Amino acid sequence: MDSSDQNILEVEDLGVSFDGFKAVDGFNFYLAPNTVQVIIGPNGAGKTTVLDLICGKTAATEGKINFQGKELRGEREYRIVRMGIGRKFQNPSIYENLTVFENLELSHPRGRGVFGCLLFRRTEEVMDRCLSVAKTIGLDECLDQEAGILSHGQKQWLEIGMLLMQRPKVIMLDEPVAGMSVKERTKTAELIREISKDRSVIVIEHDMEFVREIADRVTVMHMGQVISEGSMERVSNDPKVIEVYIGH
Ligand code: ADP
Ligand code: MG
Repeated sequence: MDSSDQNILEVEDLGVSFDGFKAVDGFNFYLAPNTVQVIIGPNGAGKTTVLDLICGKTAATEGKINFQGKELRGEREYRIVRMGIGRKFQNPSIYENLTVFENLELSHPRGRGVFGCLLFRRTEEVMDRCLSVAKTIGLDECLDQEAGILSHGQKQWLEIGMLLMQRPKVIMLDEPVAGMSVKERTKTAELIREISKDRSVIVIEHDMEFVREIADRVTVMHMGQVISEGSMERVSNDPKVIEVYIGH
């Protein structure tokens, strides 16, 4: 696929160097709406760095990041979140001593900032939103439970729920099923398919079975670049991809 008005996110010639080492180099990536696009590749390929560049955690040294017609390069991290890009890190950043409900409530955009917090009221709209998100992530039965006692999988889903509270157009998940049981993986695959009905999801993943379950498209990275892209079927038969994986 190449550049088109239909893409929600278009990344072109993206690059970053760390002390002269090009971790991401001439990276091109086109994300269609309501799509699950998985980035795979060996350790150190630059996958996490790509997410860092898109969400503004790391400043790119080259290239363009166009999101719904706006340039993201140079924008601050919190602004990028407000523009509609949510990113989940590998370790969940939930508040362990607050309840599931409170964690979701805190993530409502109206609770943002000092004044936002002071003026924030637990309106019906906020309550409804928390409940609806809790249902999506399968935690509607444990709204009053402290987040700290949730299972590993439930904590991951809560964090996805906290992202959903902001109604992002793009969600980025870095290895979301690491450490999960088989059952939790299946539920996470369902959750990712569900939330991609009205937004796009970028997932970094190692588990090929899981990739097969969730991916509409797969992007294969190696040494900071895209070496193959397309359906899982297509990339898994691509000799360049096979070579990279056998080489590792
Ligand atoms: P992946 O997620 O594909 O395993 P990463 O994006 O984490 O790979 O890392 C790509 C390369 O960039 C690695 O060699 C890593 O050591 C390097 N790297 C990542 N972030 C930094 C940083 N902030 N400073 C220096 N080197 C980094
Ligand atoms: Mg990584």
